[in-house]
Amino acid sequence: MHNPAVRESDRSIGIDLGTTYSCAAIVEGGRPQVIRSRLGYSTIPSVVTFDDQGQPVVGQDAERRTILQPEETIYGSKRLIGRTYLPGVVERFQPHFQYKLGPDQDGFVAACVGGRTVPLVEVSSYILRELRIASQRSLGEKVHRAVVTVPAYFNENQRGFVREAGRRAGLEIIRIINEPTAAALCFGFNRAEHKRLLVFDLGGGTFDVSIVDLDGNTFTVVATHGDTFLGGLDFDRRIAEFLQQRAEERLDREIILSPSDRQRLRLAAQDAKHQLSELPRAAVQIPMMKLADGTKIDLTDTIDRHDLDEITGDLVDRTVAVVNETLAMASLQAKEIDEVLLVGGQTRMPAVQKRLREMFGREPTKRIHPDEVVALGAAIAADAHDRDDTATLRDVLPLSIGIGGADGSFIPVIPRNTPVPHEGVATLEIPAGSQVMKIGVFQGEKKTAKANEFLGALGLEGLAVAEQPVSCELVFSLDAECLLRVRASVEATGFEREVTLGTQQTPDQVLEQLGKVRISVPTAAPPDVATAAAGPRGPAPQIEKKGFWQRLKGWLFEDG
Ligand code: ADP
Ligand code: MG
Repeated sequence: MHNPAVRESDRSIGIDLGTTYSCAAIVEGGRPQVIRSRLGYSTIPSVVTFDDQGQPVVGQDAERRTILQPEETIYGSKRLIGRTYLPGVVERFQPHFQYKLGPDQDGFVAACVGGRTVPLVEVSSYILRELRIASQRSLGEKVHRAVVTVPAYFNENQRGFVREAGRRAGLEIIRIINEPTAAALCFGFNRAEHKRLLVFDLGGGTFDVSIVDLDGNTFTVVATHGDTFLGGLDFDRRIAEFLQQRAEERLDREIILSPSDRQRLRLAAQDAKHQLSELPRAAVQIPMMKLADGTKIDLTDTIDRHDLDEITGDLVDRTVAVVNETLAMASLQAKEIDEVLLVGGQTRMPAVQKRLREMFGREPTKRIHPDEVVALGAAIAADAHDRDDTATLRDVLPLSIGIGGADGSFIPVIPRNTPVPHEGVATLEIPAGSQVMKIGVFQGEKKTAKANEFLGALGLEGLAVAEQPVSCELVFSLDAECLLRVRASVEATGFEREVTLGTQQTPDQVLEQLGKVRISVPTAAPPDVATAAAGPRGPAPQIEKKGFWQRLKGWLFEDG
């Protein structure tokens, strides 16, 4: 029913669609602020389940149900969104999830709960819808548009899925920006600063490091790196194992964890971890844990900071190693970083901050809540868009994009850390009498095509000439959001077509179809991130605002 009290809004919101927590924000009176959830929280768990009627339940309500029905609750799904369901790969993921993973209709990883296979794009759309509705309630006006952030690491498929999830949630996603860029925007937009930032983002499931150069309102990501399997959940798991082990030693008996007890232990561990960020000691109490012989006990224990630091020290070491690798990729030293920005709830842990302090010889920036900074930055980007303000965001491609060679090798067409927008060219020499049907497109750093993420197949039907060999040029264009478009042309025949990626086939089928095709990619010098950091390069994309937003049309995934 039409409610005349609810105004239509022409304002756009910012959304951090997080792996473990999601958050919405808006600029009010020139200041970005978080929008409270329906229950009054500043963030909502990125958790979805279904009630008895099959209706989706989202956020804190859904998280509470994880104890009762952990196998029926979808969490952490952002790590899997847009990934093709490949045996071997899925086995590696499955232990991280209590719900069962399966393939959806299109062959992407999906969640099997409530007796059905739920595509993950649907899961994300429920979370986005929840945030949209919370925003409408809080603002008293209808919300239709948003800037949504994704990890810098997200590949083409994953970005496309987020866009689709937005559409299903009734949101036009006016722009997808990378999380570190959003954090840097929140730190430096309209502050006329000239600084080199290191964005250290340790969230619930993933760890990302980016080096971002801030020059007035121009934000240039010069390097990005990370670990997609390192985050707060790993800390929780360590604490849970520690508590269980100590209890078993004390009792001299084994504790058998039911799925729901495992979940209770995990939540208690997380709670203790949060307390230890503020206090030297945390009490843990989990009633009615089941022992191997069927009896039940109350698990009571105390854990202190020293215990925590000892059992998770190697996890913190891993973050430091990734930071060092990122600096090396950008040919920079720690002392050349002007500010370290803390992003992600897990950076509230004192040991993490201490290591960064030691490494950079300065206090990391704590001006903004680490779990809100990304959403606030997205809100700033949304507001800048609404006001037609100037913000220049330059990103780099996080992972190489290339094609599968006839021998199964991976042939990069656009190397990682290339500044975007960018065009890369590959030439296919197609022998006489052969027909090229499909070219597999992959993203990653592995030597073999199949070890990388399969983005889809390019259909090149109708271009092959029977009598003589032809040379087909493929131009890969990445726009400022890292979305990919591919144009194919055969000069000899005048064939020219924009080809879209399809994912109907498996990588094996696509590689098989390549046959005897020879592929060459001009050996361009790898992008020099150090020069990139130093300032404008060659035909550098000086993306001005106007043309910039106009470019964001006709996306590959919207066409398909
Ligand atoms: P996302 O993974 O969605 O980016 P966040 O940035 O909100 O999520 O990070 C979530 C992680 O931060 C969780 O593992 C959570 O336990 C952890 N966390 C939140 N608050 C604290 C705290 N006070 N101390 C330690 N870890 C925290
Ligand atoms: Mg995050």
